[in-house]
Amino acid sequence: MTSLRIEKMELGPIGTNAYLLWEEGGEEAILIDAPPGCSEAIGGILERERLTLSAIWLTHGHWDHMAGAAVLCREGLEVLGHREDQVLFEQPALMSSFAIPGLELEPVKVTRWIEHGEELDLWGRKVEVRHCPGHCPGNVILWVEEEDRCFVGDVIFAGSVGRADLPGGDFQALERSIREQVYALPEDTLIHPGHGPDTSVGAEMQSNPFVRP
Ligand SMILES: [Zn+2]
Repeated sequence: MTSLRIEKMELGPIGTNAYLLWEEGGEEAILIDAPPGCSEAIGGILERERLTLSAIWLTHGHWDHMAGAAVLCREGLEVLGHREDQVLFEQPALMSSFAIPGLELEPVKVTRWIEHGEELDLWGRKVEVRHCPGHCPGNVILWVEEEDRCFVGDVIFAGSVGRADLPGGDFQALERSIREQVYALPEDTLIHPGHGPDTSVGAEMQSNPFVRP
């Protein structure tokens, strides 16, 4: 198996992380989260590496993670998300009072709803979907066991956790998600969060001040 390439980009008006994944020598790319303006950011990489975007995997339905997806959508592009965030994907204006005034929030059409326990394929690598509500109802984390990595959206950050005070948020549910889904991963698993620097499961279990194991 050839090596997996990951380009992390911090994008949009509030610095949301998006991750573009492809395989060395491959022809396709997958985008994890689509902040506003991400099409310009990934365009250069796709061109440089001669890649076609084949799918967008959305960790959750908050505008800063999905409002850049619509302009990338075309026939055949798969867009994945969890049904519990359907209303956020389809009516992002509902959250506009929490967004940047004047920013146009484009809805996105999810083409495939993913569920807890489902396995996705990352060019031969298994990706386990784990439903982690609490920050919002439909946040999923995407665990690539073979690569010791997990993309977590806004569930947990280095030294912090996702906000639970937005509509649909629930801190007790978030705590449960972190303890039962994130802290249950191998401790050396690298965490790729939706904001800020990478961390690891072990580091957060040891020192995250908000949710203790
Ligand atoms: Zn969020």
